[in-house]
Amino acid sequence: MKKHNFSAGPCILPQEVFKKASEAVLDFNGSGLSILEISHRSAAFVDVMEEARALSLELLGLNDKGYKALFLQGGASMQFIMAAFNLMEKKAAYLDTGTWSAKAIKEAKLLGEVEVVASSKDKNYNYIPKDYSIPSDVDYFHCTSNNTIFGTSIQEFKETKVPVVCDMSSDIFSRQLDFSKFDLIYAGAQKNMGPAGATLVVVKEDILGKVSRNIPSMLDYKVHIGKDSMFNTPPVFAIYTSLLNLRWLKEKGGIEAIEKINKKKAELIYSEIDLNPLFKGFANKPDRSNMNATFNLVDDTLKERFDALLKEAGINGLNGHRSVGGYRASMYNALPKKSVGVLVEVMDELERKS
Ligand SMILES: *Cc1c(COP(=O)(O)O)cnc(C)c1O
Repeated sequence: MKKHNFSAGPCILPQEVFKKASEAVLDFNGSGLSILEISHRSAAFVDVMEEARALSLELLGLNDKGYKALFLQGGASMQFIMAAFNLMEKKAAYLDTGTWSAKAIKEAKLLGEVEVVASSKDKNYNYIPKDYSIPSDVDYFHCTSNNTIFGTSIQEFKETKVPVVCDMSSDIFSRQLDFSKFDLIYAGAQKNMGPAGATLVVVKEDILGKVSRNIPSMLDYKVHIGKDSMFNTPPVFAIYTSLLNLRWLKEKGGIEAIEKINKKKAELIYSEIDLNPLFKGFANKPDRSNMNATFNLVDDTLKERFDALLKEAGINGLNGHRSVGGYRASMYNALPKKSVGVLVEVMDELERKS
């Protein structure tokens, strides 16, 4: 039986994407070759790469606006240092909203001065700080749009004239934003776009080439742009599967359509968390993420019974991250609303039986 997969990442993808990807492993588009064995320089794969890059920009509404899309390796974690390598001359500003922001800060400090403009660490990152301003004398401002572990997301992005860098790993393609307000967006594929192994980078070209340091080729966005994201062998299968998922999203009506569904799923789980006396939400209500809902049992002695009910219902991946405990329901684009319904029923059942 197919499980209801609430895993935070690698995440659920649409069944039809799994099916098409598995077909391509055996025979890629009738070529008599597997997607795993074709040359990345073959016309067939160059087409895949070009379509994936173009479709990423199209879905984000960034066509013809001076942006380039790249599919790189090393995960979002590599971007923590790569962004700094390419943009940090002296000083950068960072917003500290969770474990991933803190890791980005740690890497950036290797290359320059970091001003942390605000942090929610004082409350174990259960909220998004709002009382701060972005200095004008920094090379860039870095933020994390969705905090996967803590279940918070930035609802309003502050205006600034300095370049804005955003880690969108866990909410890219899930909600409408004015993406042209960002100069560098990066996202590990495995949270909402595809399988692990590829990282999407969307960069506004005119912010590059302004630092005086030498940049190693593999860390240089300009090198990757110059080679159309084929400087070295790209993660062929991860990119192809991401493309299948991006096509699926486009067919569904793009970000605008999926955001409506994502909102409904989030309303369903959060109203249950708020109404069921056995549970309490972790994140500050106005900052709640529509992708990752974090919650705890009020009475931990019910854990065994609840876990057994979850298992019986075929629910997978609901354990919270170790730094928060409790539970986390990750509801990425491909998670059907029906799965959220099953989870809510299990939460109701626990209440009835307690
Ligand atoms: C998972 C995650 C990362 C780390 O991604 P990797 O691809 O594993 O390096 C970074 N930022 C956010 C917001 C994440 O959710």
